[in-house]
Amino acid sequence: MNILVINCGSSSLKYQLIDSETEQVSAKGLCERIALDGRLTYQPTGGEKEVGDFPMPTHEEAIQLVLDRLVNPETGVLKSLDEVDAIGHRVLHGGHKITSSVLIDDEVIATIDEAKDLGPLHNPANLIGIKACMKLMPGKPNVAVFDTTFGMAMPPKAYMYAVPHEWYEKYHVRRYGFHGTSHSFVSKELVKFLNLDPNNHKVIVCHLGNGSSVSATVNGKCVDTSMGLTPLEGLIMGTRSGDIDPAVLEYIARKEGKDVFELVNILNKKSGVFGMSNGLSSDFRDLDAAAKDGNELAANAVQAFCYRVAKYIGSYAAAMNGVDAIALTGGIGENGVGERDKILSYLGYLGVTIDAEANKTRGKNQIISTPDSKVTVAIIPTNEELAIARDTAMLAK
Ligand code: ADP
Repeated sequence: MNILVINCGSSSLKYQLIDSETEQVSAKGLCERIALDGRLTYQPTGGEKEVGDFPMPTHEEAIQLVLDRLVNPETGVLKSLDEVDAIGHRVLHGGHKITSSVLIDDEVIATIDEAKDLGPLHNPANLIGIKACMKLMPGKPNVAVFDTTFGMAMPPKAYMYAVPHEWYEKYHVRRYGFHGTSHSFVSKELVKFLNLDPNNHKVIVCHLGNGSSVSATVNGKCVDTSMGLTPLEGLIMGTRSGDIDPAVLEYIARKEGKDVFELVNILNKKSGVFGMSNGLSSDFRDLDAAAKDGNELAANAVQAFCYRVAKYIGSYAAAMNGVDAIALTGGIGENGVGERDKILSYLGYLGVTIDAEANKTRGKNQIISTPDSKVTVAIIPTNEELAIARDTAMLAK
């Protein structure tokens, strides 16, 4: 089946056309600056990349431009849009009702809309993408794959906050977890790659990118994950603080006369390693380079990031009463040789020993622990688009 995977942001849209049988990408690209000046990138596999400026006042025009490229007689990869079998949409938040990927109907649309308070930046954009595809390709099955559904398997002891119960009853305040598509994909790939028993395993996945999170999975089910009601909780990230004493907000509110909206915005956009390095960068390549040149704040930010990841791994090993394997993924997990080394250096007590040569690997499945390591550690590149295509093909059949 030809699956068109769409990931709609507020002013951008990423897409991939994937053949679900061969799992190969036929074409991919993105639309940026939607509603501003509009820029389209189209890359057919094996063909020449096209980048151009086109007016795209809304996501609908952006998707139309993509569809035109896919069927272009010279550079397209399809004869007609009839060859698109289904569309898979990445959706941030499924709210408290949705626990798996679903075929989109009016009820699902209403549920995504209802969850917009929980995902104010993403859910409205995701819905615009869904509606545009329904309009431009009527009658095709559309599937929603949510960032939150993997975490919905958590037990109450992991997802409930220690706050007044009525917040949960009235407003569904609980931990949801995000990056679920990645955690689900990588944990399954890890089990396959290491030949673990699909019905008897305990694994930890560290998704380390601009946003970062850790998950604990027992026999294919997520039992805990580090992000919460929103993606702000948990690890130190590029610009997000992760775990913090909420009283800091009140303290700074009084000191600087800021309101809660402004402060949470700072925790989301100006904190993390960016904030810790005094605004130097949120990119670990810059921080590593600055640390090498003697910048102490940058060095500390990287150390703190790795320390927090190691603490979460330790707490999840305890939560599962053991761990068989650990996967590292995302831009930092797949490429950050130094970060991996720092994180794993904390795990000697678990019997983890690292193979320094193997740890030089970037961007491919690779065991980086030694053969006698008690816990196997591996790099497993994530592929969220493929995960969305797999779910879409399964539901659209
Ligand atoms: P996103 O969360 O936006 O999908 P990615 O998973 O692509 O992000 O991760 C981006 C991060 O990966 C960047 O912050 C960058 O610092 C980090 N990264 C990429 N290459 C390297 C590298 N060689 N060493 C350390 N970090 C890296």
